[in-house]
Amino acid sequence: MSFDSVIMVDWSASNTPSPAKPKKDAIFVGQDDRQPVYCRTRADAMALIEERLRSTPGRILLGFDFAFGFPPGFAEALTGRAEARAVWADLACRIRDGKNNENNRFQVADAINAATPGEGPFWGRPVGLTLPHLDMTKRRTAAYPEFRAIEGHSKGAKSVWQLAGAGAVGSQTLIGLAHLHRLCEAFGDEIAVWPQNTGWSKPDARITLVEIYPALLNRAPLDALCEGWDKSDPVYEIPDAVQVRGLCHAFHQAQKQGLLDRFFAEPAGLPDPAQIAREEGWILGVTTDEIKPQKTLQPPPLRNDCFALPPGVDWTPVDDALALLKERLTVVTPVDTAPLSAALGRVLADPLTAPRAQPPAPNSAVDGYGFAHASLGDGPHRLPLLQGRAAAGVPFTDPVPHGAAIRILTGAILPDGVDTVVLEEDVSTDGQAIAFRDGVKPGANTRKAGEDVEKGEHLLTKGHVMRPADIAHLASVGIETVPLHRRLRVAVISTGDELRDPHEDAGTGQIYDANRPMLLSLIADLGYTPVDMGRLPDDRRVIREGLSDAAQKADVILTSGGASAGDEDHISALLTETGAMSMWRIAIKPGRPLALGMWDNTPVFGLPGNPVAALVCALIFARPAMSVLAGAKWRTPQGFDLPAAFTKRKKPGRREFLRARVVDGTVQVFASEGSGRISGLSWADGLVEIEDGARDIAPGDMVRYIPYASFLACNF
Ligand code: AMP
Ligand code: MG
Repeated sequence: MSFDSVIMVDWSASNTPSPAKPKKDAIFVGQDDRQPVYCRTRADAMALIEERLRSTPGRILLGFDFAFGFPPGFAEALTGRAEARAVWADLACRIRDGKNNENNRFQVADAINAATPGEGPFWGRPVGLTLPHLDMTKRRTAAYPEFRAIEGHSKGAKSVWQLAGAGAVGSQTLIGLAHLHRLCEAFGDEIAVWPQNTGWSKPDARITLVEIYPALLNRAPLDALCEGWDKSDPVYEIPDAVQVRGLCHAFHQAQKQGLLDRFFAEPAGLPDPAQIAREEGWILGVTTDEIKPQKTLQPPPLRNDCFALPPGVDWTPVDDALALLKERLTVVTPVDTAPLSAALGRVLADPLTAPRAQPPAPNSAVDGYGFAHASLGDGPHRLPLLQGRAAAGVPFTDPVPHGAAIRILTGAILPDGVDTVVLEEDVSTDGQAIAFRDGVKPGANTRKAGEDVEKGEHLLTKGHVMRPADIAHLASVGIETVPLHRRLRVAVISTGDELRDPHEDAGTGQIYDANRPMLLSLIADLGYTPVDMGRLPDDRRVIREGLSDAAQKADVILTSGGASAGDEDHISALLTETGAMSMWRIAIKPGRPLALGMWDNTPVFGLPGNPVAALVCALIFARPAMSVLAGAKWRTPQGFDLPAAFTKRKKPGRREFLRARVVDGTVQVFASEGSGRISGLSWADGLVEIEDGARDIAPGDMVRYIPYASFLACNF
């Protein structure tokens, strides 16, 4: 039995109604290919869902994106029964959730902490709220595991015990389960909850209620699904909405392709599948055989000390720093299959071979006349002309008799009996016969089958970054979909109390944030997905939360500012706190120390605050590192030796990068070397790289010039 309709819900634990204008992190209800509905309150959302459940005919798959169970042991401690549904019923008695989203979840968590043995598992609350049994920070003597089996499989998953703070999921779950219990009461036998009530099989109830996880899907291919949406509806801009729409589509697709039943089956290799089904639950669409290849495909997570420098190292030369990065980093992005049309700038995950020869058959390279070369006597030649013609895509299907000619156009398959073509410009004709001079070589003006690519020939290597030319190459042999690494997601954070955004007034002593827009656009230019994490004040607590949030949303984090060792240098202080930080004092100008570290298993590049230094360090260090994290090769930008149009005396010790441009074949540099002079970055078309030792440069001396274009995605 199949589902006639799919309803997917992105849930929220907000305390207040979401604003009238749709925004992210609110509730979105998607159904099939309809435009998702934005709901301002949970009460509105549940009313809408009930109405849809009653009015939609046929069988319905209904998904919500929060945990349908808790880690093992909790259900029994709270209710005396090791069953998720017993916890749902308990929460439905405790949770009060008003029409305007006002609710008592923290009080409920506090009461449960008090009522269950030990310290109680829940933690996290708003700053102003004091409760005797609910701490701000993680419980130290944990009576239950942090995670359910399913979460053990996903990187960066947050524990359901955490109720507040960036990325916390516990609040959604507490309130959500209470609502689901009431929904189940209202629909009785019509609803089955998978796998808590049904075990590992697809239920045949009218409504199947399942846990989902929208982030399983990538945004990029989802955008294509939104064709036909009313683009003026602000919902269109919101990732949550696109995700619920995408999930509806994905489950319909999976059903069409006969894959859906597999999702309901028992995942292989679980320690105690019956207990997991009953007490913890599972996310529909995640199967262990999918997780495992991903795990083996994905190299081991980066080591926490992957940025550690050998002891005693003081100033690290640029080349040593690059060599260390190259050695320590490895790919972090998963693989999926995408249409060739979506491949530009993405990284190929497997080598590709040709499913078909190109050209598939011998054909003409020009417009002219075809014949068998062996039929020619001594020149000049006169051959009778057959009626009809051979054109590209419209072959001439009869054989051409020995000694006769046929009109043939560029790209047309050579008819039987034709092996040579004479150019039409070299022929005179009266429509009945053609005449031309001697000297046409056998096989002239023809292309052989497979002369470009043979069937089975190797086309591109793993790690290749797809350019327009490669897309043509693959398209020409009929390749439709390609295995690609998901685009690397790169979070960008600016830090500094002095910073303002363009729409804000900036008073004396305040400056506009230049680094974040610069770095976000650099990321996009490199073919990665920029994740804008905003601008943060010089406040360690806020930056800590910002980093955790970024680590959830991205594969790598770029920060700017606060990276050295001063009072307000919180990035380096925080990375040091985790023990996973290394201050790289790299011998480079511009660029003060670079702070490299790991935050929640995510690499962080703490770039200098000065925009010129931030860009130079991003291009020289972060760019090749991100290339490796994205699944591609280490990439050294292409430079050119050109005569200098400037004079410079450089001391030994540091590698220097100057803002430069080429005029009439010689390299000019920006008048000032000040690292706050952003205008010079924009004046320049590239950088001049001057080696570590001393140099005395006079006009006409050769210097190494690296155009900005050499740093971009498809250039290497
Ligand atoms: P910091 O590394 O935080 O000490 O900053 C060094 C210098 O760069 C200071 O003059 C900052 O005001 C400036 N700066 C830091 N971040 C930015 C930014 N996002 N945009 C423009 N200037 C910045
Ligand atoms: Mg600062």
